Amino acid sequence: MPDLWTQTLVPTLREAPGDAEVPSHQLMLRAGLIRKLGAGSYTYLPLGLRSLNKVIAIIREEMHAAGACEVFMPTLQPIELWQKTGRDESYGYNLFQIDDRHGRHYALGPTHEEVVTELVGSCVNSYKDLPKTVYQIQTKFRDEFRPRFGVLRSREFLMKDAYSFHRALEGPGGLDEEYDQQYAAYERIFTRCGVPFMIVEAEAGPIGGNASHEFMVPSPTGEDTILTNDSGYAANVEKCETGERPYDLSGEPTGELEVVETPGCPGIDDVIVFFKKQLGTKLKPANMLKTLVCRTPTGWLLAVVRGDHELNLAKLRSEAETDVQLADEKEARAAGFKIGFVGPHAAVGRKDTAVVVDPDAMRTGFWVTGANKADAHVKHFDWKRDFFQPGLGKEMAKLDAVLKQKQGAQAGPQKLNLAFTAMVADIRNAIEGDPAPDEKGGGTLRATKGIEVGHVFKLGDKYTQSLDVNVSGESNDRVTPIMGCYGIGVNRILAAAIESEHTDADGNARAGHDEFGIVWPQAIAPYAVCITAIKWEDDSQVADVCRNLAKQIEDAGYDVLIDNRDERPGVKFKDADLVGFPLRITVGDKGLSADTPQVELKARDGRTGPKGEAVDLSKAVERATELLS
Ligand code: ATP
Ligand code: MG
Repeated sequence: MPDLWTQTLVPTLREAPGDAEVPSHQLMLRAGLIRKLGAGSYTYLPLGLRSLNKVIAIIREEMHAAGACEVFMPTLQPIELWQKTGRDESYGYNLFQIDDRHGRHYALGPTHEEVVTELVGSCVNSYKDLPKTVYQIQTKFRDEFRPRFGVLRSREFLMKDAYSFHRALEGPGGLDEEYDQQYAAYERIFTRCGVPFMIVEAEAGPIGGNASHEFMVPSPTGEDTILTNDSGYAANVEKCETGERPYDLSGEPTGELEVVETPGCPGIDDVIVFFKKQLGTKLKPANMLKTLVCRTPTGWLLAVVRGDHELNLAKLRSEAETDVQLADEKEARAAGFKIGFVGPHAAVGRKDTAVVVDPDAMRTGFWVTGANKADAHVKHFDWKRDFFQPGLGKEMAKLDAVLKQKQGAQAGPQKLNLAFTAMVADIRNAIEGDPAPDEKGGGTLRATKGIEVGHVFKLGDKYTQSLDVNVSGESNDRVTPIMGCYGIGVNRILAAAIESEHTDADGNARAGHDEFGIVWPQAIAPYAVCITAIKWEDDSQVADVCRNLAKQIEDAGYDVLIDNRDERPGVKFKDADLVGFPLRITVGDKGLSADTPQVELKARDGRTGPKGEAVDLSKAVERATELLS
C-alpha cells in the first residue's frame, strides 16, 4: 500500500530558521525531516526516519556480511569503568556525567570501548573463542562544545560502533585481517548509500603505522581538512606528513636585536594590530615565530612554528619520541617562562629545556618573536646570532649537523655538547602547497574539506590491559587480546549526503542539493517516487491511476508516496523538489483525458530535463523503473 501525504507528517517550511547555517541543516528542517528540540537534539519526523532506517538497513546487512554480530549496550555506564581506563578525565568535557538518587555516578556513553571490553572479556575464556566482532546501532551522547550544523554535530546521535577482539595482529583471525574486512565493508556501505567518499589516513595512535582511516564525504562545509596529492595519497590534517622542506640559515641578520614594548599583547593577532597602530608597521603572521611551551616527562620543550602555522602535537610527540603536552600556564610561569611573550631563546642557558623548530621557522630573515620578558617582543631575531651562538659557543661549524641531528638515544644533549637540545623537524599541520612526502608519490599537496562519516582504528591492548581482560593462550598462559574499533555516524550520513559536492566519474559536477532542495541518492531517499495528484478525490479517475501506478512501482521494488493534498500544483511541485524524491510522477485530468492518456515524469537529478517528460500512461511504469534502476 502506498503512503498518502495527508496521513503522514511533513511540515515543510518556506524559510529555514535563522540559526541553520549550512544547506543540510536548512533543508532537513525545511523539508520536514527533522525538528529541533534543544541544542544538538533533534526529532526525526516520518520522512527523516525513513531515510535513517534505510541507512541503518544497509549498515546491518554489510556488518552481517562482514561477520559481525549485533548487540545493544546501555547508555548509562558506571563511572568506575571509565575510571579504570582514565577516560573519565581524558575524555574531557564531552563526557556527559550524571548522579542517580543513591549518589552513584554515571557517564552517558559517548562511545562504548569500556563497556564492550568488559562485556566480551566476561564472555570469552580462551584464545579459541577469538576473533570476535560485535557491533551495535545505538544512541551516543556527547556534550559537544558547539553543537551545530543540525545533525552533523549534535549532542545525541546514532552511531554504528563495532569492536573486534583478537589474539594477534597478523595472520588468520588477526586484527589486520579484520581491519581490512571492516574497511571493505565501509566502502560497500558508503557506496550503497550513494554518497561520494574519500578514504584518508588518520592519526594512528598506539599501534602506529597504517592503523587508522577516516571515511570523508567531500563538501565545502566540511569541518575536516583533507590533503591529497596526484598519486592518491590522502590524509587528514592531523596526520598528513610533508615532504622535505629545506631550511636555510645562510643569510645575515636583518638588524640589531631590538626589544619592542608590547603591553597587553600576548597573541600573534594582538601584536600585529599593535605594530600597525602604534608603530605604523605592517607585520605579517608569517614573519612571527610562535613559541609554545610544552611539558615532557623529563623537562620542558619549546615548539617553534611560523606565526601563520599550526603546531601538530602528534607530530611533535613522534619526533621527540616522548609524550609532549602543552604546558600548564601556571607551572610554566613558575618555571620562568613569560607565557605570551616567549621566544625560542628562552631555552638558551637552560639545561631542562629542549627546542624543536619547524623548518619553515628556521630561516634567516625578518622575525618578530617574544622577548622572554613580560609585555615585550623582539624584532630582527636571528637564529644563528640569538639562539645557537650562545648555546654552541664558537662551534658554529657544527650548526648544520646539530640541526639535522634528531634527539635520540645516541644523540642526547651531552654528546652534542649543548646546553640544550635543538632539532628541526616537521611539527606543524600540513597546508595546501606543501610538498607531499616522496614515499607517497611526491608532488604538491592540495587541501579539500570533508565531513567525517566513518572511522576505523586499530586500538591495540589499551582497553583490554586497563580493564584486565585476558584469555587462556595456546600453552595455557594468559594472553591479552588486542582490539579494533569501527564507527559510523548514522545521522551524519544523511546530512553529508545533502552537503556533498564532487565531480563524478564522467567529469560532471554533482551535489546533494540545489537551489530547490535536496537531491537524494536514491538508496536513502525517504521515498524513491512521489506521485503528485492534481486534484485528488478518493473515487476519481486521478486517484485510481495514482493507486494503480503506485502499486506497480512498489511491486517493482521502489517505495512511493502519493501527494494527495488539497493544494495548488505549484505548492506540491515545490515540496517534491524540496524533499528531493528521486522521481516525481504527475497525474492530472488534463493528461488522462488526452487521446492517448499521459502522465509526466521528472527525475530530480535533471536527467529528464527541466520540464520533465510526458509519457503515455501505458508506458509510465516501464519508464519509471528505467529511470530508477
Ligand atoms: P569528530 O571529529 O567529527 O568530532 P570523532 O572523531 O570524535 O568525530 P568518532 O569518535 O570517531 O568521532 O565517532 C565515530 C563517528 O561518529 C564519526 O566518524 C562521526 O561520523 C560520528 N560523530 C561523531 N561525533 C558526532 C556528533 N557530535 N554528531 C553526529 N555524529 C557524530
Ligand atoms: Mg573519528
